[in-house]
Amino acid sequence: MNIDLFIEELKKINIEVTEHELYDLKIFKDMLIEYNGKFNLTAIKTDEEIYLKHFYDSLTITKVIDLDKELNILDIGTGAGFPGLVLKIFFPKLNIILLDSNNKKITFLNEVIKILKLENIKCIHGRAEELSDTYREYFDIVTSRAVSNLRVLSELSIPYVKVNGYFIAMKGNALEEINEAKTTIKKLSSEIIKIEEFILPIEKSTRNIIAVEKKEKTPTNYPRRYDQILKKTLK
Ligand code: SAH
Repeated sequence: MNIDLFIEELKKINIEVTEHELYDLKIFKDMLIEYNGKFNLTAIKTDEEIYLKHFYDSLTITKVIDLDKELNILDIGTGAGFPGLVLKIFFPKLNIILLDSNNKKITFLNEVIKILKLENIKCIHGRAEELSDTYREYFDIVTSRAVSNLRVLSELSIPYVKVNGYFIAMKGNALEEINEAKTTIKKLSSEIIKIEEFILPIEKSTRNIIAVEKKEKTPTNYPRRYDQILKKTLK
């Protein structure tokens, strides 16, 4: 996706890109390519692919949620910053924590944040199953793109979400996973309120954004231990 098409496609989803945002994205993209040579951060390597599959795709989350507010957001398994860092560039009012278990990615993200002089954004090196004591029911929104299976991810993510907040998962094909996750989501007093399916421009592959609203506090026995989550589906 070249820059002109990037701007045009974003207009279709009601995002007017500013010069400042384009400038930040260019720096982010150049750093991604540079660090990728050393650290192998992402399989997506060309400029056009980065604009389509990382930058544009991250912003499609705005199809399901308004982000132009002061919100506390956690991005679980952010990798090289997707969607979290892109969202911060476009919606500066957000307070974001980027979480990843891979320290090379956290080192990269800290560098980008420093160069772009972004504020109210913090990176944590750790696993989603480890932080729920510190940040329980703290976030308005928890996002996660292409991390784990939706059932597992729901049990890990929902405890971090405030009551009336949202867990938003971004995936490719997801129908089977959505069905498999339904009982877990219900058990955690939450509900799938929207499934936005669309086709990524140019590449024409399917994308799903699943929005889950948390209705009540999560009982303290969740999340269970990670090995239990993997082994046993909630009934
Ligand atoms: N969200 C990014 C990266 C997806 S790859 C994107 O869409 O491009 C999945 C990432 O999740 C990897 O960087 C991996 O290190 C991280 N990850 C996997 N399981 C995790 C866990 N339990 N807690 C935190 N990070 C995790």
